[in-house]
Amino acid sequence: ASLDTLDDEIPAANRQQNRSLPPQPLPHDSFKDTPDTDPSLPANRAWGRAILDRVPTSTLGNAAVEAATITDADTLNKVIDTAVEKGKAWGALSGDERAEILHRAGDVLEARRADLLEVMASETGKTIDQGDPEVSEAVDFAHYYAESARKLEKVDGATFVPAKLTVVTPPWNFPVAIPAGSTLAALAAGSAVVIKPAKQARRSGAVMIEALWEAGVPKDVLTMVQLGERELGQQLISHPAVDRVILTGGYETAELFRSFRRDLPLLAETSGKNAIIITPSADLDLAAKDVAYSAFGHAGQKCSAASLVILVGSVAKSKRFHNQLIDAVTSLKVGYPQDPTSQMGPIIEPANGKLLNALTTLGEGESWAVEPRKLDETGRLWSPGVRHGVRRGSYFHLTEFFGPVLGVMTAETLEEAIAIQNQIEYGLTAGLHSLNPDELGIWLDSIQAGNLYVNRGITGAIVQRQPFGGWKKSAVGAGTKAGGPNYLAGLGDWTSRASTA
Ligand code: GLU
Repeated sequence: ASLDTLDDEIPAANRQQNRSLPPQPLPHDSFKDTPDTDPSLPANRAWGRAILDRVPTSTLGNAAVEAATITDADTLNKVIDTAVEKGKAWGALSGDERAEILHRAGDVLEARRADLLEVMASETGKTIDQGDPEVSEAVDFAHYYAESARKLEKVDGATFVPAKLTVVTPPWNFPVAIPAGSTLAALAAGSAVVIKPAKQARRSGAVMIEALWEAGVPKDVLTMVQLGERELGQQLISHPAVDRVILTGGYETAELFRSFRRDLPLLAETSGKNAIIITPSADLDLAAKDVAYSAFGHAGQKCSAASLVILVGSVAKSKRFHNQLIDAVTSLKVGYPQDPTSQMGPIIEPANGKLLNALTTLGEGESWAVEPRKLDETGRLWSPGVRHGVRRGSYFHLTEFFGPVLGVMTAETLEEAIAIQNQIEYGLTAGLHSLNPDELGIWLDSIQAGNLYVNRGITGAIVQRQPFGGWKKSAVGAGTKAGGPNYLAGLGDWTSRASTA
């Protein structure tokens, strides 16, 4: 019997109590992380090669992007009004009803894994080995937030009232998982969504959004926009009907949004400048591998990437770790994703500004252990760089660059290494390589960062197992960790209703 038919047989006075029985088991009601594609299987490698063959001529997402392009203020206002209006019915669905649609979204995203990998490689240069876990993460967000939706309506006697309209402004570096996570969270919470995918990754965003429409999220409840004019962005963010903005991007963008509207209800995951500390007790072979992957996976274009490695005591003084790191970095194969042997792909656009500076210029006392080289005329393909001698308080120590360049720093003690890391104004991820439990305890007690990793790489947070989000200037506004138990709670308001009846 379903809960509805059960209700008919229960005296009215008891119904309330029975409504809080656990929901009937549905196929997905206990969450498990989705596995990535296993490249050791020949069939999967053939599947991957077929995707890469389609990359050069891929047109996925184009039509949806074109349909979403808005060039004038009136059209944008109409989109916002319609989303608020149609969102009412969405917000009135029960958590269970929304959960069903979201679970379906997870299934459709999984079914479209190949399309998502194709469009990401074609549009942003993401290699399949980087894109595949990203699709898994998007699928995980769908199933996880579906289950969160069921639990949201009442906590500790307070009732959740969803935001009416959430604006989602994702970055280009995780062009599927981040827009999917933010959108699915807002939808799960009962809010309508207007999403503006990053312009460098709008086709990837479009294919992800099409999957959600296909799963049954109404097009008016989830609207994609591409804004022809800069002023339209400001109009969207500062529109009074918008009651949440989920931003993932640079700290400066969060400040810009706040300058548009001072009381903006913002949930923002912002910049990172992350370090891995290596002490003399560490497994140095493992550390070299983890540092290289954390620094140069997706060409260092992750908020979570390692931008600094801090070598403690004898690790700094001996040649062993230096040589291992240089070997690991110089043996990385750099190339476009169409070549399945590429381990590090291109950067998103020709290096410019701060990043170009970091790839070509040294600060005082610094030297190249591995000098980055521009590998072709596009300006997008660079070999990885490692600089030695980064000084405490220097520009490289404290600045986020978001590209394939790593700085090596040294410290006499673990405490000094921690102080070097905590001097940075951001606090997103942090890593420690040490096999000494006392060192681990000291580090855990004093390091200032949202996501901590011990004896492993510092990228690749996992939904439910390691929710993602930072401290200090790596987070702005009211957000908790994406992919964690409390994320949805920030996407609406809570009210305690007292009654004398
Ligand atoms: N969640 C990603 C990770 O853990 C990073 C997301 C980002 O770059 O914003 O690697």
